[in-house]
Amino acid sequence: MLFLWEIFQSKTRDIMKEIEELVDIIKKTLEKCPWVKEQTINSLKDEPLNEARELKEAIEKKDFQNFEEEIGDLIYDSLLILSIAERDGITTQKKAIEKVIEKIKRRKPWVFGNENVKNSEEAVKRWFEIKNQEKNQK
Ligand code: MG
Repeated sequence: MLFLWEIFQSKTRDIMKEIEELVDIIKKTLEKCPWVKEQTINSLKDEPLNEARELKEAIEKKDFQNFEEEIGDLIYDSLLILSIAERDGITTQKKAIEKVIEKIKRRKPWVFGNENVKNSEEAVKRWFEIKNQEKNQK
């Protein structure tokens, strides 16, 4: 078990290097690409939907080569829009990523807290209970 955990951790570190490079690439395109410079979160708002559709199609066709490409496109578009939002003072990359981390931890107390769930049905039920509680608090 410990051995598997070590492999997982080394793979996570590999991904971190690539994510850092992707963030650097986006930063560079924002500085040097005239087309990217002109974009706003509004001008790019449909791009993640287009990429998500292409990803869905690749999954449905079991086209795993295309799966890699389309999920990469979706990650790129998300990070690009987030970078543009930061450039335009809407939020920061750090804040947006912290927000999703907090949300996942809050909505899965059987993973990150002291709760227990018996099966996936119970996990889904609990997720929606917490989600609805949060909505009611707003
Ligand atoms: Mg694509």
